[in-house]
Amino acid sequence: MEQEKIFIGSEGAPAGAVFCFSTKRGGVSEGIYESMNVDPRRGDNQEHVIENCRRLGAAAGFAAEDLVMINQVHGDTIIKAAAADRGTGLFRPIEAEADALITDCEHVALTVFTADCTPILLYDPVRRAIGAVHSGWRGTASDIVGKTVSRMSAEYGCKPSVIYAVIGPCISACCFETEGDVPDAMRAQLGESANAAINVTGSKYHVDLKLINKLLLERAGVGNVEVIKHCTACETDLFWSHRRMGLERGSLAAVIMLTRTANPCAD
Ligand SMILES: [Zn+2]
Repeated sequence: MEQEKIFIGSEGAPAGAVFCFSTKRGGVSEGIYESMNVDPRRGDNQEHVIENCRRLGAAAGFAAEDLVMINQVHGDTIIKAAAADRGTGLFRPIEAEADALITDCEHVALTVFTADCTPILLYDPVRRAIGAVHSGWRGTASDIVGKTVSRMSAEYGCKPSVIYAVIGPCISACCFETEGDVPDAMRAQLGESANAAINVTGSKYHVDLKLINKLLLERAGVGNVEVIKHCTACETDLFWSHRRMGLERGSLAAVIMLTRTANPCAD
């Protein structure tokens, strides 16, 4: 077991924020959740989930108490998180239904869960604001990532050209075989430029959701986009995959957090 693979970080992000994509490794959960499940809503032992979050945070640079979780519904609702939301999910119930979180508060660790869907983390090092996006194929088709960039601009004055984005491990084109509805939805959002991410194989399609989200980020004006290569459905020794495991599994977490500076958020 390579314990160092407890999480995957960014290779090129500017200083001042933690980027963390969890793996299956390095946790204490048992059975179908073995070993790193960070999702408190999957039926796992809650003490194990909290300990897993502590271990993940110790490796990546946040505290379990900093995490803010949401109930994801494959929509395009974006929620602003504040310091008072810290601990939501692990230490108090989740009430919000949304698929993206933004904040400009330090030590608020925005968290989205995935197990094949595309996680995207956003960081504006100038305005000191961040976003975390859960972009399944429906979220991708509704451009939730572009809407999150717009919301960061509206709320915090972010310039997309200075935002650094990291697209995390997800099901890749090799394994994401679909019917015609998925490519149709991508073309409806992006027009013909979506075709670069769509391969036809017989009567089926293989769709590259990382590339679609990269194109959406570029359309939104985001200056730097890092794409992490891993495929969750190929590498089931390293990641949870809904397509490979169904509901008998844990969840991966994508976490982003502004680290402490001299000007902590007041609320
Ligand atoms: Zn694959």
